[in-house]
Amino acid sequence: MRKTKIVATISDRKCDPDFIRSLYYAGVNVVRMNTAHASADGIKKIIKNVRAVSHHIGILIDTKGPEIRTTTCEEPIDYKAGEKVKIVGKPDSLTTFDEVCVSYPGIHNDVEIGTHVLFDDGELDMKIISKEGEVLIAEVQNDGVLGSRKSVNVPGVHIDLPSVTERDRMNINLAIDEDIDFIAHSFVRSKDDVLAVQKILDERGSDIKIIAKIENQEGLSNIDEIIESCYGIMIARGDLGIEVPIESIPGIQRDIINKCIAAKQPVIVATQMLHTMIKNPRPTRAEVTDIANAIYYRTDALMLSGETANGKYPVEAVKTMSAIAEQAEKDRQAERTFDTPHDADHFSIREFLSRSAIAATELLGVKGIITDSKSGRTARNLASFRGPNPVLAICYIEKVQRLLALSYGVIAVAQQQKVGRQEQFIAALRMLKQKGYLGLDDKIAYLSGSFAEGGQTTFLEINTAREVLNRSYQFHLTT
Ligand code: PEP
Repeated sequence: MRKTKIVATISDRKCDPDFIRSLYYAGVNVVRMNTAHASADGIKKIIKNVRAVSHHIGILIDTKGPEIRTTTCEEPIDYKAGEKVKIVGKPDSLTTFDEVCVSYPGIHNDVEIGTHVLFDDGELDMKIISKEGEVLIAEVQNDGVLGSRKSVNVPGVHIDLPSVTERDRMNINLAIDEDIDFIAHSFVRSKDDVLAVQKILDERGSDIKIIAKIENQEGLSNIDEIIESCYGIMIARGDLGIEVPIESIPGIQRDIINKCIAAKQPVIVATQMLHTMIKNPRPTRAEVTDIANAIYYRTDALMLSGETANGKYPVEAVKTMSAIAEQAEKDRQAERTFDTPHDADHFSIREFLSRSAIAATELLGVKGIITDSKSGRTARNLASFRGPNPVLAICYIEKVQRLLALSYGVIAVAQQQKVGRQEQFIAALRMLKQKGYLGLDDKIAYLSGSFAEGGQTTFLEINTAREVLNRSYQFHLTT
């Protein structure tokens, strides 16, 4: 069983239920919709089709955040190194050879002489050499082509745009209306950017969870306060690789994963994981190793973008990612190192019991951990210890089951809370046994709460499956 979760980006141009079903069967846990490319109707179509396939698939929407783009040009423009060009903040004008217009009117205020402005994911580099009022004069640094509506990055510069644009607000409201599971907010610079989205959610009483996309230096500098204010993190390596020196990406990835594990929050590694599979049926050796390394670093989830949104081999890409993940998990577990970056001196009771349950998998040979979960917190605590065996989370709310689609090693099932705890536990045990995760003589840990109706985790019990099932007649089972 694969424990690392897979997020797949889907476009409204290719989202029929049969296609989504084939991705789901290949191993997708969460579907992502990128609002840079889809209309409201397109987004609704994807959501409807995902739900027609399974209510277990988490649904995530991206905002665009404070991003800058060039405006439309009549045809792609060829630039040669050394040419001089004006860059101006005119969202409603066409871009021409002499004048590159961008969507942010205030760009001249934020960008200083000597700064590099990068277009189209860094393909074209222009350096600001002077300013004339609201016009930036730039020198082209490399030969390149500029098409319509290309990305604009200004590494290391604070862009004074609001966190949530009008378009983002519309999409957040759409996400609330459709009651989806996650909003991945782009270019998060500080906790205020997360709180700006949270405010809209709170005003409408929505429990959608926010994933902060870390994609520039400001987000990195404020990573601790961002982690504290959001549900999870996406390491958005596409923009990050332009905004910070590309050679620092692996180290950043490792640090952010460690911080998220310590905070017991899900983390997604994104972008170009199987980029060559957009056009080719097989990945490069470097891509396979990149995925395995993300798993050795202990990420919760991996993301596919163009590979599933518009690639030629979407299902193969998911299957390939899943196979690499399974193998990497096995190889890592063979090392039998379960140390994680938690602060053991300040454990809560829940953390202490979670750690003990994971330790039992190693010391007593416990084959799986069952927990019941109102909010998913105990399951996320258990996931953060990255144990070798599955965590079965019994959820009373279907949405919590989908939230756990981003958490490492968690199999979430939804059950009604009507029946008692023992009955839930036994039903879960039977399920694990039926699915072949567990034999009768295997030990199982059960983590739950006895008196604290507030949802606290207060005890850990370890039994063999046989011991529990033999006594199950004592309970009036309804399942
Ligand atoms: C990224 O930049 O890596 C990313 C995931 O964001 P987007 O797909 O919006 O560029």
